[in-house]
Amino acid sequence: MPELPEVETVRAGLEKYVLNRRISSAHSYHLRAIKPSSISPLAAVVGAKIRAVKRRGKFLWFELDREFTLVAHLGMSGQLLISSKQLPDQSHLRARIELQKAAGLAGKKSASDEIRFIDQRTFGWLSIEQMHDQVPTSVAHIAYDPFEADFNLKEVITNISSRKSAIKPAILNQEIISGIGNIYADEALWRAKIHPEIICEDLSEDEIKKLINSAKAVMKSAIKAGGTSFDQQYKNVNGASGYFSRSLSVYGRAGQPCSRCSTLIRRIAFANRSSHFCPRCQR
Ligand SMILES: [Zn+2]
Repeated sequence: MPELPEVETVRAGLEKYVLNRRISSAHSYHLRAIKPSSISPLAAVVGAKIRAVKRRGKFLWFELDREFTLVAHLGMSGQLLISSKQLPDQSHLRARIELQKAAGLAGKKSASDEIRFIDQRTFGWLSIEQMHDQVPTSVAHIAYDPFEADFNLKEVITNISSRKSAIKPAILNQEIISGIGNIYADEALWRAKIHPEIICEDLSEDEIKKLINSAKAVMKSAIKAGGTSFDQQYKNVNGASGYFSRSLSVYGRAGQPCSRCSTLIRRIAFANRSSHFCPRCQR
């Protein structure tokens, strides 16, 4: 599932192509491609100019010269590809947003002129939404991610340290801290040497601080690597995979030796997900 580094890679990729371009047509091809709570059909964006491509956690949105915004969530397997109109449709094409030619490209054949939303598992969606306090409706309840200027490390530590749940679901809770999913949670817990099932209130504030800083550090490295394409579902806007999967320390490495202590990495089913950890380093 795309997490913060993958969504940020897509956002930055889109920004290069779509800024200040007008949308000339928009079509959806699957019932689940548009979120049921969308205030308009996708066609409402036709004629709008894209002012910015923003992100919080795993949500991204296109700021338009309109009262509303176009939000995208990649779900489990969503891709937003910049594609030439001439290319044949992909088999899981869910929506298509055509862009007018970029200024300065008049006369030239623009090779990258539509955004294609492709989603094999159909958990991703697009949605037309109002803005509230500079974020779309569906993002209003999402906590700041650690790369935002308003992210308050101290508040997040205080919030987590009072909880009676295990630490892993706490850092996956998008209303406490956003952007972290299963892969980067496992990696951050390994870096901070914390067992995924430890109860939050049994951790010291320093341990929680180390964990959040580890999550930020591992996601920063993953952004540099273009994200993690663990199951080959995640692609950047040009259809290329990220290469951070080579740098994973525990995720997907069950039965292989821990790079710190050589103990074999374990995989356990926990809170409806699998957790990967080193039974010796993480206690
Ligand atoms: Zn170890």
